[in-house]
Amino acid sequence: MATSTCPICNAAVDSSDAVCRQCGVEFLMRGPQPPVITLSRPVRYRTVPTVVELTSKRWKSIMVLGVLVAVTFGGLCAVAALLIQPEPNSVEMVPVLVCAALSAAGIGIYALGRLGAWWHHG
Ligand SMILES: [Zn+2]
Repeated sequence: MATSTCPICNAAVDSSDAVCRQCGVEFLMRGPQPPVITLSRPVRYRTVPTVVELTSKRWKSIMVLGVLVAVTFGGLCAVAALLIQPEPNSVEMVPVLVCAALSAAGIGIYALGRLGAWWHHG
């Protein structure tokens, strides 16, 4: 049995194979051994990592972080307000206000991620 290599993934290919067993690309086999492998149709690459994709993922993770921070501290703020039930303008307001500030910071982080994604990718 004649073997050749897949032009896409370099896997060993048998002359009787119509399809690469590794990457699934289709072949047109011609001629005596070793067979000449021609692609039967244009190959669409499944994974072409691009700089754009990587950068946008970074901004997306910043947005996710922002949402997590905002939700976490927003929840803490509500819980603290319910548990402590502080008088307005008292010292007991401090933890509630701190949580509210951190929650707002989370919204800020999210906005930063949005802004970065917009700035770098239109
Ligand atoms: Zn292949």
